[in-house]
Amino acid sequence: MSHEQNLILANVKKRDLFALWEKAKAQGFATPNIGLLTDIIACPGGDFCSLANAKSIPIGLAIQERFNGLDYVYDLGDVSLNISGCINACGHHHVGNIGILGVDKDGSEWYQVTLGGEQSSGATGAHLGRVIGPSFSADEMPDVMTKVIDTFVENRQEGEHFIETYNRIGITPFKERVYASRQPAHA
Ligand code: SF4
Repeated sequence: MSHEQNLILANVKKRDLFALWEKAKAQGFATPNIGLLTDIIACPGGDFCSLANAKSIPIGLAIQERFNGLDYVYDLGDVSLNISGCINACGHHHVGNIGILGVDKDGSEWYQVTLGGEQSSGATGAHLGRVIGPSFSADEMPDVMTKVIDTFVENRQEGEHFIETYNRIGITPFKERVYASRQPAHA
């Protein structure tokens, strides 16, 4: 299991590859989306962890359902999305290009979104994401992700990945889009 929560089957004989792929596919383990938006890293969250402020897995599933077109996801290119159910950050949300953190407000589950995180060890190094603004309810999260991705698509230049567009235009266009029609209910 890689730290990005993908399964690695080492030392498979070449002649067995196709049969293995067919069986993996039948079990839902052969989605070719590594490094793409739907290749989400999520901690166990409130479904399995007693420390959680909020659930992580249903948020990831809802986002995967929203972006279920593989061609579209391929066209978006590399973008990392990390979800943690509390500030312990087991989902490494700080270093996701898009990070989601479960927070507790008055006993209910809310989600704080960060943008611009990077785990890259390349020339630009690693960066922590910036909080985009007030948190969201679980129901709002798919729409929030759609607005974030739409902002990227509308501003990207030829060949740019999400993080490159973000680094060029900054957080403001994303923030303006996400909060444009939202009533500020929570800080
Ligand atoms: S980030 Fe929090 S909720 Fe998620 S696994 Fe770690 S301790 Fe549990």
